Formats: sequence, C-alpha cells, structure tokens
Amino acid sequence: MKNAYVSKEQVEAIAKEYPTPFYLYDEKGIRDTARKLYKAFSWNPGFKEYFAIKATPNTAILRILKEEGCGVDCSSKVELTMAEACGFKGQEIMFSSNDTPEEEYIFARELGGIINLDDFSNIAEVEETLGTLPKTMSLRFNPGGYFKIANTIMDNPEEAKFGMTEAQILEGYKILKEKGVEHFGIHAFLASNTVSNEYYPVLARQLFQLVVRIKKELGISLDFVNLSGGIGIPYRPEQEPNDILLIGQGVKEVFEEILVPNGLGHIRLCTELGRFMLAPYGALITKVIHFKETYRHYAGVDACAANLMRPAIYDAYHHITVLGKEEEKETKTYDVVGSLCENNDKFAKNRELPVLEKGDYLFFHDAGAHGFAMGYNYNGKLWCAELLLKEDGTVKCIRRAQRDTDYFATLDIDEDFQKYLQNRK
Ligand SMILES: *Cc1c(COP(=O)(O)O)cnc(C)c1O
Repeated sequence: MKNAYVSKEQVEAIAKEYPTPFYLYDEKGIRDTARKLYKAFSWNPGFKEYFAIKATPNTAILRILKEEGCGVDCSSKVELTMAEACGFKGQEIMFSSNDTPEEEYIFARELGGIINLDDFSNIAEVEETLGTLPKTMSLRFNPGGYFKIANTIMDNPEEAKFGMTEAQILEGYKILKEKGVEHFGIHAFLASNTVSNEYYPVLARQLFQLVVRIKKELGISLDFVNLSGGIGIPYRPEQEPNDILLIGQGVKEVFEEILVPNGLGHIRLCTELGRFMLAPYGALITKVIHFKETYRHYAGVDACAANLMRPAIYDAYHHITVLGKEEEKETKTYDVVGSLCENNDKFAKNRELPVLEKGDYLFFHDAGAHGFAMGYNYNGKLWCAELLLKEDGTVKCIRRAQRDTDYFATLDIDEDFQKYLQNRK
C-alpha cells in the first residue's frame, strides 16, 4: 500500500494557483531520510552523503540537503554552478563525471571539489589541463564481469562505460603518488536501483579488499571510499523497502572485518545517493482530461512523457493513487496516457484503477528522482512547475512552469515574431 502525502482537497487548493501538471516534493520526507542515512553511518566519523544533483537538480532541494549535512555530486558544469550558487564549498563537492570536457576539470578545481577520475587516460589529461594535480584525487573502479547477489541484484559492469580495470587503477594510484598527490579515494557504482540490503555491504567488501591490496602493494593508505549511488526504492507497492540502518550495519561489519585489522580504520565513507534520497518524496500530479475507448480503455492526462520519461524509456512502474478515491472498490483497467505523438507515452498499461472521471487528480508516486530532471521539450511540451510541500504544510513554488517564451528564447527570432509575441493576447 502506498499513500500519497497530499489529499484531494489540498491538491485542489494548490491547483488554483499552480495548474496541473506539477511536481510536488515533500520536505519532511527528504529531511527524515537524510537524517536516517546519517544515523545509519554514524559509526563512521567522516561519513558524508554527496547528493547526486542529476537526480533532482533544484536549488531549493539542494539547500535542504545542505542543511542536513550533505554535500553534492556533480557531473557537469551547470551542476557545479548550482553547487557553488548554493554555497557548497571545497570538499563538499564531488565531481564524478566521464567523457569530461577540459573546462569542467578547471571549474571543479577552482571550486576545490574532489575530482573523481573515470578513466586511466584522464590522469595525464588532468595534469596537463590543470598544470599540477590537486592534492586530493579519487579514481573510479570497474571490476568487470557480472555483479550478482543471489537472485536480487544482477548488473553487468563489464558492459558499463564507467571506471578503470583493477590493473589500471593500481597503476593509477602509483602515478598519482609519484606526481605528489597526498590524499586518495576510490569510487565504484556497480548496480542501480538495488532493492536489497546486501548491495552496499557486498560492494564495500570488494572495495575494501582492493584498498588493502593498494596499501600492501603500493604503500598508499586511502582516505575515503565512495560507495556512490545505487540504493533503490520499492516502486511497486508489494516490494519490501531497503532498511538503511541494516545497510549501514552491514557495511560496518565488513569495515571492521577488513579495514580495521589492516590499519585502515581511519577511512571515511561517502555515498552519492540520488534515488534513495529523493524518489519517494517527489510526485507528479496530473489531471484526467480525456477518455478514449478502442481496443483498450484509455485515460488521457494533462502530463506526458516529457514530464516523466521513465515509463517511456525503461518501461518503469510508477504507482498511481487517484486522489479522493483511495477507498473505492469498483475498478476498471486503463492505459494512462499523455498527449505526445509517440506510442510509448503511457504512464501505465493495463493498470487497474478506481473508475476514473474527468477532473480526477492522479498522484504518480516515486517521481522525485530522475523524474523532472529527465524532462524534455518534444512536441513543444513545456516543463511543468516544481512545488515544495514544506514541513509547516504550506506550498512554495521552487521552479515555475516553463513558458512558451522560454522555449522560443534560444531561437533566432525575427522582428515579426517579436511583434507577434508582444501583441498577442
Ligand atoms: C547517477 C549517479 C548517482 C546517483 O545514482 P542513484 O541511482 O540515483 O542513486 C551517483 N553517482 C554517480 C556517479 C552517478 O552517475
């Protein structure tokens, strides 16, 4: 059972000021989750979560997370700019990118962020670009093969474009040390959206073993291990959620088993969670505007895949609550669709829902990460607003809806078009 964090009456009131569709984020849920994560890793004094900005690139969200003690993980110049604008400084910024333009390394260095190199060849490139290497550097590891835990997690690092092989990473630390780097970190992201308490402990074991090897073979004691993102959420109501306290405990056991006896108990842990931190605390709220009966029952809504792309590209499941009809017994099976000229613009297929009527508000759960962020403008669809449901129950607009004039602003508009825009009603 998944419950919406707003009622129909609340949404009706919000929609008077901010027409649907819109995203609504739940400040309380975000803060509670950040606090729980810090509690789970409180046994590791230097622990820090670097929120992956790409998941929810909104400065209001970043400021909430900053207040909760988080840093940020950036992967582009715009994300670095947002980090700086929100007051993240120095080592509160992780720069984990790949196929990176030179200017982004320069900017990350200016901000004093930690640069996490994706590829062996980046070492020479960064040295050339920056003149000297920063005193702190991190390297991204890819063990290859399959990453598998029982029947719960399956991913394929061998096919992932990210990270360095074991031989490359060992050679990498050796070179960094020769070139005067003093503080070192390691990073790996081997499986995505894991709904299992095993992922971090198993990943930590792999990384900690490698960290011990680096110490023994190269005489380098790393400063931090970055477990990156990948902790998932139960998109389906029947799934069992992760228990972050258990996950923290699991990592602690591996830490005490492998690192502590090898004189590496000083190591700080980092995470770069995106989905786990935000997905359940953002919803896309949309209104039913149309019905169509052909070979299926279609319910058309005023949002489309341009507002939430995951169902279209990953066939991802997003649970739907029909606000005000939570207790309805009578159901009907619908395809819930948007208006794009693309047949993949379906938020749900053959979904059993309470019988819908025009004007019903649908609450698409778990859209708070990799939701708005993946928006696009196909078919001239504009981005919707992002709103924050604050802890005191009030609602604040944290990104206004895009206007057609925003969409036109980057065009080479001629005088006639400008006149047209000025004169239209
Ligand atoms: C996408 C990404 C994350 C966040 O991933 P989630 O699945 O949202 O936890 C963290 N680090 C890096 C380098 C990423 O690319």
